[in-house]
Amino acid sequence: MKIPFNRPYQAQHALDYLSKSWENGHTSGAGPFSRRCEAWLEERVGVERALLTTSCTHALEMCALLLNLEPGDEVIMPSYTFVSTANAFVIHGAVPRFVDIRQDTQNLDEQQVEAAITERTRAIGVVHYAGVACEMERICELAERHNLMLIEDNAHGLLGAYQGRPLGTFGQLATLSFHETKNFSCGEGGALLINDSQLAGRAEILREKGTNRSAFFRGEVDKYSWVDKGSSYVMADLLAAALFAQFEEAETIQSARQAAWDYYHERLKPLEDAGVLQLPAVPDGCEQAYHLFYFLLRDGSQLQDILTFLREAGVHAVFHYLPLHSSEFGRQYALGPDDCPQTTATSERLVRLPFFVEITRTEQDRAINAIYRFFDLSPAHELHRSADPARPVALPS
Ligand SMILES: *Cc1c(COP(=O)(O)O)cnc(C)c1O
Repeated sequence: MKIPFNRPYQAQHALDYLSKSWENGHTSGAGPFSRRCEAWLEERVGVERALLTTSCTHALEMCALLLNLEPGDEVIMPSYTFVSTANAFVIHGAVPRFVDIRQDTQNLDEQQVEAAITERTRAIGVVHYAGVACEMERICELAERHNLMLIEDNAHGLLGAYQGRPLGTFGQLATLSFHETKNFSCGEGGALLINDSQLAGRAEILREKGTNRSAFFRGEVDKYSWVDKGSSYVMADLLAAALFAQFEEAETIQSARQAAWDYYHERLKPLEDAGVLQLPAVPDGCEQAYHLFYFLLRDGSQLQDILTFLREAGVHAVFHYLPLHSSEFGRQYALGPDDCPQTTATSERLVRLPFFVEITRTEQDRAINAIYRFFDLSPAHELHRSADPARPVALPS
């Protein structure tokens, strides 16, 4: 019995809504399920407009188009992120300006952002890693003072908050992902969240192949035509049907993820206290979105060993982002060989554990016990070495 890294959640009404969408004959974009999903996001997150898209990557590309980038314009962002955070802007001529991350949250280090601002900077892109907010107070203040667009790549953070305010409401624009690996999913999908009403009209046009088709369907114009640049970024209503079934179970999904996260945290805390690993930090004022569970090894040379050890114990644990600034393509944007040292250190030491809605305590115990066995050199953990791997580890009192 292997424990997978992820097991996508099947919402109760997903198949029912999929067949309804099929039968009602509106399977393409902007249909009834899309409207329900968009209304749900607008209401739950508290954004002015939510537009479903084919992916988070495409929603980020829409952000780049809305910025009207000129070649050489710069966008500040972490190097410790998924490649799309950068590529969406790079394909429109921008230069990513990588800023290092904090050692506790793996989020953009707000103390280092200002030094990266130049005359060419147009935007700051933040990623709320693991669904834990960046220090938005400082970052919003910088964006405002330097007149920069703020964009939240909120692929991890739907339903998270910072100082009581939902993630996705800080930037003029924010993006979401509904890829299979995310908290809410429909296979592939995303959304663009818009908090600046001046951007909404053009965003609709960009999403609809550069036409004013959305305004036409609302009866605002009597025919629709080519009015701007654009592409095909609209999510099929068929997928929105599957997504809406998940939104309806948001409470169940989030509370199951929270319980699983809390359990890992509680059971692994003695290892942090013993100094063999570092658990994720959730600063005061951050309500996290429980997207993933990770820990950091003290020593990067242990990474391959622990992943192999866990795999042999039937536990599929994985590493995470390889730094963009030292990747084959991204290295052209690095400022030097010592750029973003914390990003490199985190990348070498971060382990993600199996984490999904329906993970059982028995499965989590298997992972936890295997981790204790891996660190069995410490006499303080003799206790765990002999533990039956199927049973919960006893916490040292
Ligand atoms: C998953 C992810 C994306 C890309 O999402 P897609 O919907 O697959 O395009 C972008 N940024 C971050 C931080 C992600 O985790």
